[in-house]
Amino acid sequence: MKVDDCIFCKIAAGEIPSTNVFEDDVCVAFNDLSPQAPEHILIIPRDHIDSLDKADASNKAPLGHLLLTAAEIAREKGFAENGYRVVINTNSDGGQTVFHLHVHLLAGRPFVFPPG
Ligand code: 5GP
Ligand code: ZN
Repeated sequence: MKVDDCIFCKIAAGEIPSTNVFEDDVCVAFNDLSPQAPEHILIIPRDHIDSLDKADASNKAPLGHLLLTAAEIAREKGFAENGYRVVINTNSDGGQTVFHLHVHLLAGRPFVFPPG
């Protein structure tokens, strides 16, 4: 389902330009506008989900698909062996700013843990 005024729904529909690195019938992966690492890719479900907090059992398949897609992109782009980080910021304290669930796939530099 597409939600009016959701920027990521518009990206998924091709109504806002994005540099896509992968897409299929379930998800779209594109470069983050403000990269926080040499590789910073966002992977979003085509169907709108506000956040991980709002996901339920009906979203199991797309959520699994997002993670497996992240791993596939990492292998395809050649940074899987060096490593990468997958992040799902959730709600205010989690740092979520766009309320269409998305997976950040970050790579190309080491990451500290815990993150700030
Ligand atoms: P959040 O803070 O919600 O976890 O992540 C939202 C991400 O979306 C941020 O990293 C931000 O740079 C990215 N972003 C916001 N608007 C756009 C846009 O219009 N295009 C792209 N490619 N990325 C965006
Ligand atoms: Zn949306």
